[in-house]
Amino acid sequence: MSASRAVFLDRDGTLIEEVSYLDRVDRVELFPWSIDAVRLLNRAGLRVIVATNQSGIARGFFTEAIVNDVHEHLSALLAEGGARIDAYYYCPHHPHGHVDGYTQVCECRKPARGLVDRAVRELDVDPLQSFVVGDRWLDVRLARAVGARSVLVRTGYGRGEEAKPVPDVAADAVADNLMGATSWILRNLQS
Ligand SMILES: [Mg+2]
Ligand SMILES: [Zn+2]
Repeated sequence: MSASRAVFLDRDGTLIEEVSYLDRVDRVELFPWSIDAVRLLNRAGLRVIVATNQSGIARGFFTEAIVNDVHEHLSALLAEGGARIDAYYYCPHHPHGHVDGYTQVCECRKPARGLVDRAVRELDVDPLQSFVVGDRWLDVRLARAVGARSVLVRTGYGRGEEAKPVPDVAADAVADNLMGATSWILRNLQS
């Protein structure tokens, strides 16, 4: 069997509203188009993998249990619309945190490639045939690091990022939101 293709979705500002350190399940708010977008990616046969930096764990703002609750809740909301996230990968670390065990330089904080490498190991994903969607240049950098294609979305921090281009980083596409990114991915699957 050939390796699978994936879309690595940033979470905050891309799949759900950016609320700065999401620490309670009741603060989760999907964008109106998110369920439809994820379902379209599911139907196209792409793995949909959330890849998110959650340094709030290292900073002591919330625990891994909260993050897991949030993801369970997200999956339930998506399931109501027939959409599915295949895996949730998060980095709990930060080099300048406060919590023992999480305060460290790591290989998985985006733009480092650790979360993608985990999908390669656990889900047989081929990064060269995959996509990264996010609202920060660090998401675009991650795509570049692993050889995937990238879409920057204008939701979350995206508009601000677009206004401050970084010299050596360019997205393959910029879209208004996750639905726009999904359309671009589906149009470019064969190329
Ligand atoms: Mg984000
Ligand atoms: Zn990490």
